Amino acid sequence: MTYLKDKLDVEYIRETSDKALDLMSIHNVIPSPSNYQVWYQYASEENLTLNKTIDDMIKKKKSFTSKISNNIYERFFSNDQEQSAVTNTGIGMQVELTKIAKAVGEMNKGTAKFSATLSDGLRGMDNIPGGAELKSIISALVKNTDEMTNGNNSAQLKLQESAKTVQKLQVALEAVRQESLTDMLTNIGNRKSFEENLKEVIEQTIRADNEMCLVIGDIDHFKKFNDTWGHHVGDQVLKAVAHSMKTRIGDQGTTARYGGEEFVIILPNTALEKAQEIANNIRISISQRSMKRKSTGESIGKITCSFGVAKYRINEHRDDFIERADAALYKSKANGRNIVTTEDESHANVVKIA
Ligand code: GH3
Ligand code: MG
Ligand code: MG
Repeated sequence: MTYLKDKLDVEYIRETSDKALDLMSIHNVIPSPSNYQVWYQYASEENLTLNKTIDDMIKKKKSFTSKISNNIYERFFSNDQEQSAVTNTGIGMQVELTKIAKAVGEMNKGTAKFSATLSDGLRGMDNIPGGAELKSIISALVKNTDEMTNGNNSAQLKLQESAKTVQKLQVALEAVRQESLTDMLTNIGNRKSFEENLKEVIEQTIRADNEMCLVIGDIDHFKKFNDTWGHHVGDQVLKAVAHSMKTRIGDQGTTARYGGEEFVIILPNTALEKAQEIANNIRISISQRSMKRKSTGESIGKITCSFGVAKYRINEHRDDFIERADAALYKSKANGRNIVTTEDESHANVVKIA
């Protein structure tokens, strides 16, 4: 699975950001932080419902007025408190765009050489990644400003400076987003990233009429371990377990810390037997690893994990899916721990629709 790896790739961020700005320009969307957030998400194709909503509007040739844009934002983002950091970064971008508009507005009156001068300034942005898209947005911004002038170098410089800052802000925006999806202790995905990812993979699975599985792993008797060795050593174990899972899974799926000493692994395009085999391999590799205290090299014995595996049932709500994997994990615990249990297929019980 290359999901997180791709997301961390600066080129990918730039491309997505450029694409978002380009689309905003094509569809005459006001370049505000909230709209940028909506269109960045659209460009990244991470939220299929959002993409469908916007695609429908484009198909119906609806214009993205500020009212409509606000509605989209409210629907998909405003209740998400964790996005507020992202929004704050986006406000920085709005400030920059306002500066650009102001710089353009500050130019003296008289239109004679305006086009040539502005074109030069805009051409200077070609070397900046995303410059082309910004250029078209800025062009749209100045389109209605009918009286501009020539030779105002400081205005051009301001324009270029602001454009560069906008670029930096875009990268910062994605970095903040990344941070909000990463578990700080183990450096793998956190619960939020798991939930986003699960939703996405379920949608893909339904669309492609495919199979997918979920594995939940929980460290055995971890409380006792902490009591014996202390929380700090416990933290080292959490890191080691996360690392083992992540490296073993590789491209087959995504690992996240669900909370405490619980981990979740999403396995797209995977049959139940295969998922069971993968979970069992992870179980074995963790149980065979002899843990050492980092500071002293002293052996701290072995750690084991119990696992529950479930295969997604088409149209089941993701909470029910998680619950079934969790019920399987519970059986592993009840049956002595250091076990992988696969959920019993015969208890199909489709309650809610995903
Ligand atoms: P079981 O085998 O039934 O899962 O037993 P357990 O002791 O692992 O489970 P329990 O839920 O009773 O305790 C979980 C423990 O995990 C309690 C808490 O001290 C520890 N824990 C949770 N989060 C962290 C963390 O971030 N760092 C450390 N060091 N320990 C944590
Ligand atoms: Mg436990
Ligand atoms: Mg637990």
